[in-house]
Amino acid sequence: MSKFWSPFVHNLVPYVPGEQPKMTRLVKLNTNENPYGPSPKALAAMREQISDDLRLYPDPNCDLLKQAVADYYGVQTNQVFVGNGSDEVLAHAFQAFFQQGKPLLFPDISYSFYPVYCGLYGVEPKQIPLDEDFAINLDDYRQDNGGIIFPNPNAPTGRLLPLEDIEQLLEHNTDSLVLVDEAYIDFGGQTAIALVNKYPNLLVVQTLSKSRSLAGMRVGLAVGQPELIEALERIKNSFNSYPLDRVALAGAAASFADREYFEQICSKVIASREAMVSELTALGFEVLPSAANFVFARHPQQDAGELAAKLREQGIIVRHFRQPRIEQFLRITVGTDEQNAELIEALSGI
Ligand SMILES: *Cc1c(COP(=O)(O)O)cnc(C)c1O
Repeated sequence: MSKFWSPFVHNLVPYVPGEQPKMTRLVKLNTNENPYGPSPKALAAMREQISDDLRLYPDPNCDLLKQAVADYYGVQTNQVFVGNGSDEVLAHAFQAFFQQGKPLLFPDISYSFYPVYCGLYGVEPKQIPLDEDFAINLDDYRQDNGGIIFPNPNAPTGRLLPLEDIEQLLEHNTDSLVLVDEAYIDFGGQTAIALVNKYPNLLVVQTLSKSRSLAGMRVGLAVGQPELIEALERIKNSFNSYPLDRVALAGAAASFADREYFEQICSKVIASREAMVSELTALGFEVLPSAANFVFARHPQQDAGELAAKLREQGIIVRHFRQPRIEQFLRITVGTDEQNAELIEALSGI
């Protein structure tokens, strides 16, 4: 605290990211990173950018990347927005769409950045409890609102809302924006991008941090109808006109062009998740159905906080949220089969 702070800063409640430990030789299953590296073609494209050209600003319009995303999803380039991580894309969306003088609806158990952005942008949050199985109940969202946002699959539960349900939500909510945060969609869901041409109130946000293994490059995107994208561009160009650097732009575009590698690593993660779910279940864990690259599990006889602490002593880091309703759960990122085996062995020992 300091007398130089604006009164606003005194009251800000920032997001607390998952730990990025400095020690190596850890089994790091706490922040949902991909256990496999980026596409070799993306790595090559990024290396090529390390040159004297770095003295030049990058393309402020990010045309190459927008084109790659548009080609991948079969949309127009003016339906694509890109940003420095999807967190930045989400931040711009909060400012562009949710300051409506009405509450923004999102699940009580959800991505913890949403309440933080509400605080930053003066949006009133209204948290809607998930049902007892931690699923979204659509009827609860039939109320006056200034927007709706949720991750699909949800984080940290991993549960997927089917596309038909999202369509229902869009049909019953034509006067405000529905933002679907698809950070984990590639691990078992169908993207709602298929619906953007039909619904002017839909914005889909994705990240290259999880399924495309580029968390370290910070690239995210949004797809929607051109008027929505224009609003995001207005905010972005009033904030930072060059948010994506040359290296990130080239790597992200090459990643979208390399469908084969992408599909291969996603299938590997999905297969490892299914194996992890059966092994955890065999150890007595109750595991929520997951369509993501993590599982959310609790053990009826073991305290989740203690389990997390004991795993840490053995060099295995998982995420534990000290938060009502989920304090007995662990969120465990799916690693390589070797990492997952270490986890299961350690849990068996405990
Ligand atoms: C990881 C994650 C993001 C943020 O991704 P970045 O692109 O790395 O900023 C957004 N939403 C959810 C639900 C996430 O889990």
